[in-house]
Amino acid sequence: PLPPRLFFEAVEQSPVAISITDHRAAILYANRAFETLTGYSREEVLGQNESILSSNATPPSVYQQLWRTIQRKETWTGTLVNRTKAGLDYLAELIISPVLDRDGDLQYFLGMHRDATKVH
Ligand code: FAD
Repeated sequence: PLPPRLFFEAVEQSPVAISITDHRAAILYANRAFETLTGYSREEVLGQNESILSSNATPPSVYQQLWRTIQRKETWTGTLVNRTKAGLDYLAELIISPVLDRDGDLQYFLGMHRDATKVH
């Protein structure tokens, strides 16, 4: 059997920015690539809403669609305009999937994103 530590290290060392949030998008965990891409340290983002990454360039209707999807316990994929701590905007290609408890109720969300600004 795979040691549980491997799951942590695999996520920690993934080149994809990965975060785990509560059901309202408050950040509970962020991996190393999340820190590198966003410019925020874990200490700075823990307990904060993912909206700290939001720039004002994403239309509200996109967020509404995102929330409607994930609250139906479905996976949302899409592109948002995110802003780093330094104030640089980038295209975030995002996947958000629900994490359900044993009763099938929403408990956490898993967010994964990469910088899609540079295509080539
Ligand atoms: P909000 O106040 O969040 O409102 C925007 C719309 O979303 C409104 O229509 C509101 O009704 C709806 N909404 C917000 N919170 C809830 C809720 N708890 N339940 C139901 N509806 C709700 N945003 C980014 O910009 N960049 C990211 O990289 C990003 N990653 C995310 C990762 C995860 C795992 C999750 C769960 C969310 C992520 N979000 C991300 C969305 C983020 O939480 C905010 O909803 C978004 O940034 C808009 O923030 P806001 O303060 O402008 O508007």
